[in-house]
Formats: sequence, C-alpha cells, structure tokens
Amino acid sequence: MKVIVTGSFNPITKGHEDLILRAASIFDEVIVAVFNNVDKKYEFSLTEREKLCRAAFVGVRNVRTVSSDGMVVDLCREENCFLLLRGVRDESDLRYEKMMSEANKRFEPRCETLFMTASEKYERLSSTAVRKIISGNGSFIGLIPEKAEKCLVEILEERKGGKYEK
Ligand code: ADP
Repeated sequence: MKVIVTGSFNPITKGHEDLILRAASIFDEVIVAVFNNVDKKYEFSLTEREKLCRAAFVGVRNVRTVSSDGMVVDLCREENCFLLLRGVRDESDLRYEKMMSEANKRFEPRCETLFMTASEKYERLSSTAVRKIISGNGSFIGLIPEKAEKCLVEILEERKGGKYEK
C-alpha cells in the first residue's frame, strides 16, 4: 500500500524526516509531496524545497519526492493514491489537520488522512525554528536531515554569493 505525505517542507526538518522514515517502514511506498500552501509565504521556492526533500531520501528505495503547485486531491487522482499521512505535534496541529482532512474529503470523498504523532525528540522542531536559525547565520546541524545539509548550504551560498558555515 502507498501513502502520500504532504507538506510545505520550508525547509524539511529532522521531524519531517523521522515521520517519513517511520511511514516508509510501514508502507510499501511513500510519496513525499511538496506543495504551496496558500496561507503561507515561502522562504524557499517550491523547486528548492523539492530538491532538499529529494536529497534527504537518496538511497531510501521506497520514498519518492514530487512537487505540485496544484491541489492535494489532484495529486491523489494523478497518483491513484487516496491515502494521506500527516504528522501531529500538539493539539493545535491536530485541530488544523482535522480541518484540512475534512476539506480534502469534500473535494474528493475517497481521500482519507491518517495521523502519526511526532516522536518526542522532535515534537518541538519546526521549519519556522530552522528558518530563524538560518536567518541569524546559526548552525542547522541536527535540525535538518543529514543528507540534505549539503544541498541547503549550496542554496544559501548561491543566495549570499559567498560561503555559509553550517
Ligand atoms: P504544511 O504547510 O502543509 O502544514 P509542513 O511542512 O509545515 O506543511 O508540515 C508537513 C507535515 O509535517 C504536517 O503534517 C506537520 O504537522 C508535520 N510536521 C511538522 N513538523 C513535524 C515534526 N517535528 N514531527 C512530526 N511531524 C511534523
């Protein structure tokens, strides 16, 4: 059985990685789907966010990364997969996730969303925190997937036109 893990991944964190790898140990295939959430403004472009996710799962045979500027339900139809998986860190995540799950069901009744609680270790880790650290030139080691570190350095150096000490 396959499952789609949707998100903005702005940028992907160790919390996302943990969720996706746990899913990969349960499902035959995990599709990591990078989206543009209309309520959010993005520090990283869709292409950059997709690149970082792809780098994070290099060598993981049952994880595949895609990106879309469209709607989640359209990707479900395209992939013929109507099972979504989202991570839940706390009550406020759960409230938001329930609302999104119901909205997706309205657009596509076959859409079902499963929730997985965040691992204790990562339950306070967010992309927002990682972005703040990056904007202050802080170290992101241990906050983003190890395999995505090089890609993030490249993105940041391209922007700055100089060296970024991770
Ligand atoms: P979105 O903009 O669609 O909410 P995010 O990239 O913020 O996307 O999050 C994608 C999914 O990962 C969401 O289900 C979110 O709750 C979950 N998530 C975020 N951080 C963590 C974490 N530290 N541990 C587990 N799940 C997380």
